[in-house]
Amino acid sequence: MRYTANNQMDSDEGEGGMSFEVKKNEKAEDNYIVKEELGKGKFGIVYRCEEKSTGKTWAAKYVKTIRAKDREAVQREIDLMAELEHPSLMALIDAYQSSRQTVMILECITGGELFERIVDDKFDLTESEVISYMRQICAGVQHMHHNNIMHLDLKPENIMCVNRTGFQLKIIDFGLARKYEPNNELKVLCGTPEFVAPEVISFDAITPLTDMWSVGVICYVLLSGLSPFLGDSDTETLNNVTVGEWDFEDEAFDGISNGAKEFISSLLVKDQRDRMSVDECFRHAWLSEISTRTKACETKLSTARLKKFLARRRWQVGLIHLIL
Ligand code: ATP
Repeated sequence: MRYTANNQMDSDEGEGGMSFEVKKNEKAEDNYIVKEELGKGKFGIVYRCEEKSTGKTWAAKYVKTIRAKDREAVQREIDLMAELEHPSLMALIDAYQSSRQTVMILECITGGELFERIVDDKFDLTESEVISYMRQICAGVQHMHHNNIMHLDLKPENIMCVNRTGFQLKIIDFGLARKYEPNNELKVLCGTPEFVAPEVISFDAITPLTDMWSVGVICYVLLSGLSPFLGDSDTETLNNVTVGEWDFEDEAFDGISNGAKEFISSLLVKDQRDRMSVDECFRHAWLSEISTRTKACETKLSTARLKKFLARRRWQVGLIHLIL
């Protein structure tokens, strides 16, 4: 648990229901010097900031929370983040709220998005590298699922590198995350079409296995640069997910090992009851057994398709910002 002196466990909430104390009588700017912008999402703008008392660098995510509904959503994001402490998950440090906005002080992640880093011409992408990324992503997801938290928005933009020199990964953006209560059916209508699971689109009950579909899509894209359900419009993409048909027929998969294909096939399963859980991922030979790695794992993968995939997504995200 990452509670500071001001962030005690709320004893009124009972077991498992903790509330992170959001400071309402102070401003983030009282304690932090806000620097340059690091990134922008649909809901928040993120800046680098420096803690006045220690000189430490953090990231400050500013979210407009004028409506009570938005304040509740951000409080949920804060509470869920406060429950999580894992090297593969972005940490929450502090939070402030005024009548108009909420500011989350977060661990600063400076290495950029994983997908942007691996298309760099100086970098050789191999299946072995992808295994190491998938292990880190699954480790973060496993920590969330063991805490009964579902991320519900796993996608390339939410997987970042801690710094510019290495490939230690962190999952970010818990804005759509929800608590999983087995006896309390939860249905949501959110996510990103290319990565969202069929049960979300059909508005059926979701479970931690809903995240595992997205893990499968991410793995498919990392290895091939192709997006398995992408259509010409969001409606077509959602329809492709609902139909749930996909394959490894493109030549992009020619040099990919059978283990990798088996791993993806166990995740992109329409009926979530038959989908591989995150614990099963770690028992899967492709992810767990170094001895089963074939020569294919060390072959350099072409990143030309991945570059196109990223160019398209940058354009789409830019368009969303223009519309909003
Ligand atoms: P979305 O539009 O995906 O719902 P959002 O509005 O909730 O997003 P985030 O995805 O959390 O916002 O952040 C927006 C961008 O800011 C990220 O894509 C990333 O580039 C950058 N960013 C977020 N958190 C951090 C961090 N802790 N350190 C550095 N950069 C960050």
